[in-house]
Amino acid sequence: MAPRAVERRVAELRRRLEKAGYEYYVLDRPTISDEAYDALLRELTQLEAKHPELVTPESPTQRVGAAPSARFAPVAHTHPMLSLSNVFDEAELRAFDQRVRKALGRDDVGYVCELKIDGLAVNLAYEHGVFTQGATRGDGFTGEDVTANLRTIRSIPLALRERVPGRIDVRGEVYLPTASFEATNRERAERGEPLFANPRNAAAGAVRQLDPKQTAKRNLAMFAYSAAGLDLASQAELLTRLRELGVRTNRHWRQARDIDDVLAFVEEWKERRQGLDYGTDGVVVKVDRVVDQDRLGFVARSPRWATAYKFPAEQATTTVEDILVYVGRTGVLTPVAALAPVLVGGTTVRRATLHNLDEVRRLDVRRGDRVVIQRAGDVIPEVVRVEAEAGEKGKRHPTFEMPERCPVCGGRVEHAEGEVAYRCANPACPAKTGQRIAHFVGRGGFDIEGVGWALITQLQERGLVTNPADVFLLKKEQLLELDRFAEKSASNIHERIQDARRRPLARMINALGIPNVGESTSEDLAEWLAARLPQDATFGAALAALRTASDEELQRIAGIGEVVARGIGEFFERPEEQGFLARLAELDLRPVLPEPRPATVESALAGKTVVFTGTLRRRTREEAEALARSLGAKVTGSVSAKTDLVVAGPSAGSKLERARQLGVKVVDEDAFDAMLR
Ligand code: NAD
Repeated sequence: MAPRAVERRVAELRRRLEKAGYEYYVLDRPTISDEAYDALLRELTQLEAKHPELVTPESPTQRVGAAPSARFAPVAHTHPMLSLSNVFDEAELRAFDQRVRKALGRDDVGYVCELKIDGLAVNLAYEHGVFTQGATRGDGFTGEDVTANLRTIRSIPLALRERVPGRIDVRGEVYLPTASFEATNRERAERGEPLFANPRNAAAGAVRQLDPKQTAKRNLAMFAYSAAGLDLASQAELLTRLRELGVRTNRHWRQARDIDDVLAFVEEWKERRQGLDYGTDGVVVKVDRVVDQDRLGFVARSPRWATAYKFPAEQATTTVEDILVYVGRTGVLTPVAALAPVLVGGTTVRRATLHNLDEVRRLDVRRGDRVVIQRAGDVIPEVVRVEAEAGEKGKRHPTFEMPERCPVCGGRVEHAEGEVAYRCANPACPAKTGQRIAHFVGRGGFDIEGVGWALITQLQERGLVTNPADVFLLKKEQLLELDRFAEKSASNIHERIQDARRRPLARMINALGIPNVGESTSEDLAEWLAARLPQDATFGAALAALRTASDEELQRIAGIGEVVARGIGEFFERPEEQGFLARLAELDLRPVLPEPRPATVESALAGKTVVFTGTLRRRTREEAEALARSLGAKVTGSVSAKTDLVVAGPSAGSKLERARQLGVKVVDEDAFDAMLR
């Protein structure tokens, strides 16, 4: 290319990469695929290598992420948070190893292999063992203060198991488990909101919420992979030490003697990753010894001592043979592409979800089109884009329309103004009941092994089960009459159904199928109920307590917001649920109530009733309360004879006075901090 043409191309690549980076990192809503982004970045890197005079400090090849959003307070990182270089095949990985050995001047270089978690990088500051600040990566130098949001993530300890002096900066990846990612997208599809492109964008969206309550709902988790401030000799020691300190690390890491060992790890995980319940997009290879890492140092945006081996994208191209419509548990109609079978990441895919009518229109996908589909981990395959339209222009199939009648029961299809979802209006639609029964007996619910689709269909066809609670009333003789059932199999299923009368309360709540109440909200509700019910309460008593709870009461439960609270209220009011709820209450279902959440560490606050008053200097009232709770304290709003401790900041008033009158112990924030240690 002539120099002028090169300049133009470089400018064009930068413009496109910057736009894509902004959409990806700041809006959490990419408009091009990662492969397309990586290809553009590669082209720019190669052009800059050939024409070093064109490199500028602002070039996307020199920088990490994107500037932090002004919605959050900025946090300057004590050590820059960098990215990683990538390799895509064996040859590139071997070239990385060669560069490392050459630079170190010896051949025996040990590595540590870790899974590359598909989430969002965060920095967690611990001062004297107490979590004080959490930030996103931002542009690598300045991140966003998301402390309050990160505090809601249970795998982030609010205090380390040891009071390590000084400051430690723990780095890790916050991620959304695959099941929660799918649930998030399903809910968004039903609400007509745009879907997240991948688990990482979904996790970033959840962490970068303005309301920590919204983050708390999301079932986020974290794996830590590095730390500054712990003086250790190797990455392997670091991972071990983090674990000792109570920081969650991913257990699938391994030391490797040489690059062949590393390759074996990569090959192993190309397959095994399918079985994980979180997304991983590669293996991170790190030179193990810290002295070696220091000698190797950094290039512009990544360390020289580490690289990421990226797993091949699980995408494929195939033909849409038809667009079908499925009816879900809540009656929502979902368009699904029936595909010419194609192999993606080791499994044959025949169906891919199109989520909703808006998505079909956005993609403009029609019968006969060639489409790119993708699947990540266990995520349901989805159509990413149309690659080639069917036939010549003007000869394509007509655009897809939602049916006016439910494809399962022929009932009327409703579509509320301004909503994206189309619903079957028939409350007795067998698709709805069938799905609900499946959910009720499924793993997240009463977990009755052996009651699968084939059995549910038979039970519905014979009218033996018209609502999920009927499952518990099935008699052995009724089961014996079904196809393929003999004495032994009927006894087995009958026994398993009876065993299911005792299940954790959270599962029973999840089994109800309340809109927007998934596994994690069910756990929150179960904990709340456990504090109000006797140990031997029936499920009927739990239902009564939920039914009578006001929206305000429910919203006071951490993790439950306005929409969920209202949804619960409406569910218990709905006429079509009354038969089901009444039957459940009559059954002798005995939930196992959850244990009160254990304190993370032994602490001076465990079991104490604490009141905060006045202004605190180092943290907000809410943060102080969360911290005390995490250490096993009960936090209340008013001082009484039962109060064990009052933490008073300047400007404390009547509560402080009352504490003095009652002779309750009063401490200031410094003394409180000392107790944390
Ligand atoms: P990266 O995600 O490829 O790698 C660096 C990150 O890996 C680190 O910041 C860290 O958060 C993470 N990580 C996970 N597990 C780790 C472990 N065990 N040890 C160390 N680090 C670990 O790099 P990046 O700069 O964050 O992002 C680049 C990626 O984002 C590319 O895949 C690119 O395609 C994608 N991207 C896409 C678009 C788009 O428009 N589609 C735009 C920008 C970036």
